[in-house]
Amino acid sequence: MQSIREKVKEQLSLSSDVRVIRAIDKIFNFAIGCEAEEILFEPRAKDLAVNFMADGELKNTLLLPKKAEQAVIAGVKAKAGLNYPADNSAGGRKFKKDFLGYKIIFSLCVRSGSAGEKITVNLAKEKFQLFGLGQLGLNAKALEIVKKNLLNRQGLTAVIGDFNSGRTATLYSFINFLKHPELNIATVEKDVACDLPEINQSRLSKLDGFSAKNAINALKRQDADVIMIGDINDRETAEAAFNLAQSGHFILAGIYSRDIVVALNFLQEAGVTLSSFSANAKMAITQRLADKNCPFCLTKQKIGRESRRRLEEKLSLRKLLSRLMRDKIISNRINKPEDLIFYKSAGCPRCHNSGVAGKIGIFEVLEITPEVKNIIKTGHFSSLRREPEKQGGYSLAEDALIKALGGLISLEAVIKAAE
Ligand SMILES: [Zn+2]
Repeated sequence: MQSIREKVKEQLSLSSDVRVIRAIDKIFNFAIGCEAEEILFEPRAKDLAVNFMADGELKNTLLLPKKAEQAVIAGVKAKAGLNYPADNSAGGRKFKKDFLGYKIIFSLCVRSGSAGEKITVNLAKEKFQLFGLGQLGLNAKALEIVKKNLLNRQGLTAVIGDFNSGRTATLYSFINFLKHPELNIATVEKDVACDLPEINQSRLSKLDGFSAKNAINALKRQDADVIMIGDINDRETAEAAFNLAQSGHFILAGIYSRDIVVALNFLQEAGVTLSSFSANAKMAITQRLADKNCPFCLTKQKIGRESRRRLEEKLSLRKLLSRLMRDKIISNRINKPEDLIFYKSAGCPRCHNSGVAGKIGIFEVLEITPEVKNIIKTGHFSSLRREPEKQGGYSLAEDALIKALGGLISLEAVIKAAE
C-alpha cells in the first residue's frame, strides 16, 4: 500500500510532499487546539479556504494557495484511508490522533463542488473506554435484569440520564455484550463516541441533512437486528424509535432526562403515547456519574446528623438496612444506621490531593412489568419511584448508598447523586 506521503507526492509530482503533510498535521493540531468541532476544506475560485467551526459558528479561516489545493485535499483523504483519486464513496471515514492523553476521532465527508472537492472533517473526543457489562457498576439485581433484557432482544431499552451521566458508555457496553457475527448491530449518534469495527455506525450531521429519522429509516431497510440510538431528543426520532421497536427491532436508546418521570413527560410531548411506551419499552435505566474515591487515601467516615437528614429525604435508612442484609451487602451485625461506616478520600499525591479517582456509574434499573404499565396508564408517574424496590432492586439513591458502603464513593457523592 502506498504511504500518505507517496500518495500526495504522486499528486503533486513535486518534492514538496513533506511540506504538504506537515501543513495538514498543522491544520489538524490547530483545530484540536482551538477546540473546533469541524474543519471545512472549501475550494474556491482563487484559493482553498480552510474553515474552523465550533458551535455551528466560524471561528477561524486559513487561506491556502490554489496550487496546493489538490495535494492538500488528496492528503486529507489519504489520512482517512480514502483512495486517491476518486473514492468519495462515504461520509464518515475516520482516523484518530492522540492528543494529551486522549484520542480525537476525525470523520470525513467528501463532496464534489463546482470549484473542486469539498471536505468536511468532524472532530470528536473519544470520551470513554469500552466497559464490559460487569464493569459498569450495576448491583447484582440490576445486572440480572439487564442481562435478561439484553438476551431477550425485544422492544426498547431506555437509558435515561442528564448531561455527563454516562448514558453512551452504558449503551456501548450493552452493544459490546450483544455483538455477535450473526447479529446486525447499528448505531445512530450525533458523534460516534466509540469505534467498533464490527458494527454499522452512523453519525448525524445537520449540515448533511442527515437526520436521525433518515438514518433510522435507512437502517430499517438494511434490516438491522439491534439499533442503538444515542439520543432521542425530538419528535421525529421518538416516533421512529418506537415504530422500529414495534416492528421487531431491538432498540437501545439514550434519553436526556433526569429520571423516568421526566422522560415519560418528554416522550408524551414528543408524541409517544403511554400505550405505545407500555407496549414497547421493556426496561428503563436511570443513571448518574459520581466521583470515585481515591483508593490510596481512604479514611473512615460516620454519618453525621446533617448528612443523615439530607439522605433521609431520598430514602429510609432504617428500612434499607434489612434489604441490604437480605442481599448480603452489609453484615447482619449492623442494627442501626449509626453503625454504618462510610469512606472519604483525604487527598494524596496519587490523586493530586483531590481525593477523586475517576467516575463511577450509579444506576436504577426498572423492568417494565405489568405493574409498571398499570402505573404508567394512570399517569401518576411519581409512583414509579417505588417500583425498583418492589422488583427486588434499588433506587438511584439506594444504589449510590451501596457504593458508598463499599468505599467507592463518599457520602457527599451519594447526596449529590440522589438530588
Ligand atoms: Zn488519594
